[in-house]
Amino acid sequence: MSFQKHLLEALGPRRIIAVLGGLYVVLAVGRGFVRFTRDVPPGNILVVTLLIAFPGFGLIYGSYWLSHTDIGSKFYSDIARWCLIGFGAMAIILLLYHLQPEGGISTPATSPPILTALSTVAGFGVGIHDAQAKTRTDQLEQRNRELEETQVELEETVDELEDANERLERYREYTDHVLDAIDDIFYVLDDAGSLRRWNESLCEVTGYSEAEISSMTAVDFFDDDEHPLIAETIADGFETGSIQLEAELLTKEGEPIPYEFVASTVENPDNESVLAGIGRDITERKEWERELENRVKQQEVVAEIGQLALERDDLDEVMAEAAQQVAAALHNEYCMVLDFDSSREELQLRQGVGWDDEGTVDVSISTDETDSQAAYTLANDHPVVVENFETETRFSGSELLTSHDIRSGISTLIGTTDDPWGLIAAYDTNPQTFTEEDVTFVQSVATILADAIERNQYQNDLEQLVADLEESNERLEQFAYAASHDLQEPLRMVSSYLQLIERRYGDELDEDGEEFLEFAVDGADRMRSMIDGLLQYSRVETQGSEFEPVDLENVLDDVREDLRMKIEESDAKITAESLPRVTGDEEQLRQVFQNLLSNAIKYSGEGPPKVHISAGRNGTDWTVSVSDNGIGIDPKDQDRIFEVFEGLHAADDYTGTGIGLAVCERIIERHGGEIWVESEPGEGSTFSVTLPAVTDRFEEYAVE
Ligand code: ADP
Repeated sequence: MSFQKHLLEALGPRRIIAVLGGLYVVLAVGRGFVRFTRDVPPGNILVVTLLIAFPGFGLIYGSYWLSHTDIGSKFYSDIARWCLIGFGAMAIILLLYHLQPEGGISTPATSPPILTALSTVAGFGVGIHDAQAKTRTDQLEQRNRELEETQVELEETVDELEDANERLERYREYTDHVLDAIDDIFYVLDDAGSLRRWNESLCEVTGYSEAEISSMTAVDFFDDDEHPLIAETIADGFETGSIQLEAELLTKEGEPIPYEFVASTVENPDNESVLAGIGRDITERKEWERELENRVKQQEVVAEIGQLALERDDLDEVMAEAAQQVAAALHNEYCMVLDFDSSREELQLRQGVGWDDEGTVDVSISTDETDSQAAYTLANDHPVVVENFETETRFSGSELLTSHDIRSGISTLIGTTDDPWGLIAAYDTNPQTFTEEDVTFVQSVATILADAIERNQYQNDLEQLVADLEESNERLEQFAYAASHDLQEPLRMVSSYLQLIERRYGDELDEDGEEFLEFAVDGADRMRSMIDGLLQYSRVETQGSEFEPVDLENVLDDVREDLRMKIEESDAKITAESLPRVTGDEEQLRQVFQNLLSNAIKYSGEGPPKVHISAGRNGTDWTVSVSDNGIGIDPKDQDRIFEVFEGLHAADDYTGTGIGLAVCERIIERHGGEIWVESEPGEGSTFSVTLPAVTDRFEEYAVE
């Protein structure tokens, strides 16, 4: 056996079979050849040779054919063994047969090869069967093993799946907990708007049970009016992939809560598109926004009323607007501005809103009613807030308030407690909380009104003063005009009678008489000059011409012409820079420069007068100055000289009425300018006037 084994290992089973087959083929051919050489008939040789060679070829082919069968190669050795057993068994049988006394093999070169070859082939056949059976068994075992392995794998997979399922379940529970833990509403909607999933917050917020919600659609959580919008938003959400919506969620009790919803489309495990998102309670944000809007609105109202108060003179218009705006900004139904009549100790409605159809109501509250809010407010320098009159203890509502079902209000003083003008108050029929900002707002409006009232009073006082002054001025002018005009007549009489006396009795008068007469004529002349001056003075405002562009060069030329005699007599040197065009009354300006120039010549002192006229631009004005080298004026007298009949010199030294500069000042003031003098005694004087430059309005005219 061990020989077999060694042989099998050394050659390999298929090769052993092939070698066996080959041996028989060689034996058959060799034997045939030997027989042929011994002249055995070929027919005999062929039969025997074929009988031996044929099994040999069969074995060779069999060894080749094996590789094309489904017999496992590991069983090839079994086949080879069966071949060897077949061969060995036949060989032993033949040997035993040969060894028996009456036996013996007569043709040892023929029978044994044939028989062993056939038995080897038989062995090959048995081996094939054996190997095939073993191969089947082996395959079955293999299959069995594979099945067992598959089963194990399947069991493992089932375990894993169970694990995974358990984990998934736990995970789902966990996500449920997480979703339930958030205050926001979580929801998943399908395209029909039905709720597929939601968290506890939805139940808690709306008051619906899980069962109720499961049969509801998204729109059921909103007011009927909102249904189209909600449905459209959901449809849009599925189309665009997301939604964002602010809407009021209705609880089961019908209470609306402002919510903001956001959601995005996702695919659920069934491959359906769903909208998953959250809804957030935005009550606080909305309140804050409302609060902010209120503040902005209140600030706008304060700015608007402030502006109105500055622009309008009509206090009632401002107060009516203030009442209207305060009521609107505080969302109050009523507002009123009460005017305090201190003489009657009464508050009277000045302007109001909401009280009746006409917007006014006959109201007058006596301050004796100390339990009224109005009287209480008047006595307090801080705003009075009533959130609910039913719980108010400081005072009870007045007849007016109770008759209008007022529940809450805010009132504040206009002015000060020492000098109150009145108050502003806003009321509502619902209890209300007023914020600090509301209080400040009403206070601001009250301050604006107080300022406007004060400004209005000041304005009225000022206007009254101006009117009084104008009236008194007018009366004075009329008086001066009438007086000077009426004085002219008796003065003319005095003058003509003096002339008559001089003509008729001049020769008869002694020296004293002549001197007295001279004084009287002189006095009458001076009086005429004074009356003329006074007339001029009183006519500056009333008899002036319209302003127009005036060329001061021309004015100066005229003045020089008028003063030619005086200039020549005094040998005065008058120089001038180029003079501007100004806006004014040409005749009056001529008077001004004539007065200034004639004074400059008159008060020149000893030497010949030197007068210089200069001009300089100062913004929209021109400053024109007349300087002389005369006697000058003491600074202490420099204001006085512009007053009527204020001359500084005795009549002997200089003739003058003392009204010229007063007329100049009046004329310059009529032109909106100023006149002043700079001078030192003995150093000469410079009189300056400001006059308006020619404005655009006159430019066209000026070019012509
Ligand atoms: P009068 O008719 O007296 O000149 P004015 O009103 O013109 O009246 O002048 C008032 C006074 O101012 C004069 O009496 C004079 O004393 C003084 N005065 C005016 N102009 C000059 C000047 N250029 N130099 C010095 N004194 C002057």
